[in-house]
Amino acid sequence: MPERIYVVIPCYNEEEVLPETSRRLLLKLRALIAAGEIDPGSRVMFVDDGSRDKTWAMIERLSGEEDIFSGLRLSRNRGHQNALLAGLMAAKDRADISISMDADLQDDVDIIDGFLAKRKEGCDVVYGVRSDRASDTAFKRMTAQGFYRLMKAFGVELIYNHADCRLMSRRALEGLSRYGEVNLFLRGIVPLIGYRTGVCAYERAERFAGESKYPLKKMLAFAFDGITSFSVRPLDFIRGLGLFITVISLIISVYSLFARVFAWPFGGWGVLMGSLWFLSGLNLLALGLTGSYIGKIYAETKRRPRYFVEELLDD
Ligand code: UDP
Ligand code: MG
Repeated sequence: MPERIYVVIPCYNEEEVLPETSRRLLLKLRALIAAGEIDPGSRVMFVDDGSRDKTWAMIERLSGEEDIFSGLRLSRNRGHQNALLAGLMAAKDRADISISMDADLQDDVDIIDGFLAKRKEGCDVVYGVRSDRASDTAFKRMTAQGFYRLMKAFGVELIYNHADCRLMSRRALEGLSRYGEVNLFLRGIVPLIGYRTGVCAYERAERFAGESKYPLKKMLAFAFDGITSFSVRPLDFIRGLGLFITVISLIISVYSLFARVFAWPFGGWGVLMGSLWFLSGLNLLALGLTGSYIGKIYAETKRRPRYFVEELLDD
């Protein structure tokens, strides 16, 4: 029995790429259906993440023209992770497997073949991993590499060079649906679900058209969010630092005592100012970091809904 797949595509102001993306996906899915690889009820689900351009109008038109296209519209912009989750949760109740991809054609549509092959081997989760980053700007490459290093240093288990292009089976999606956290970092959560996993390499292309919706500021926020959502190591670190500085200050105090008694050289004023500024800075840093965690707890305890669906086109 061929399985029913839902290809989930989050879209935020993607009117420039949608015509091409939908064209390629239509061809791909039609070919797979014709070859008996997937169920004829398989769909491409575009999730409109509160776009301000013609994205939703295009999705409506597409779903009217072709049964293969369905659409989900969020009540407002909730960010890539929430939009993707909304699509995956809709797919969970309708399909045997979901495949998530970006709208900008950076993820090769042909990777679906590789995913399905791995699925046949019995995988519940298949990660799309990019084999090279030649298409990225040097800047993006460097920041991305720094990102994985940083995450690793803080003990967050991530699949190297894997973004959000992946296959998930229904039971993996069921697993995902049980993680109720508001601070969503899918890349970190999916490896926690378990089951049999596979990896599929692909070459990541350049964005087909339009601009990246992830400026540096958003990327940094995303990395920080990832760390504080999955690791308390930064807190251990400041505790260790606090201990270290206490020891150092004890040594300095003892030294200054001896310096006074035996008239050793000791630049009192400079040391005072330096340590004052250093310790105040450190205090603020520690406070701020602890505050970030408290902020997360605050957000989690409120249990606010992650998204609202405004409209669902799926027949
Ligand atoms: N996206 C979204 N909501 C947002 C920002 C982005 O749904 O608030 C979608 C966007 O339409 C695209 C995907 O997330 O399909 C990845 O965004 P983008 O290609 O701009 O990021 P980059 O590849 O530059 O990291
Ligand atoms: Mg992109």
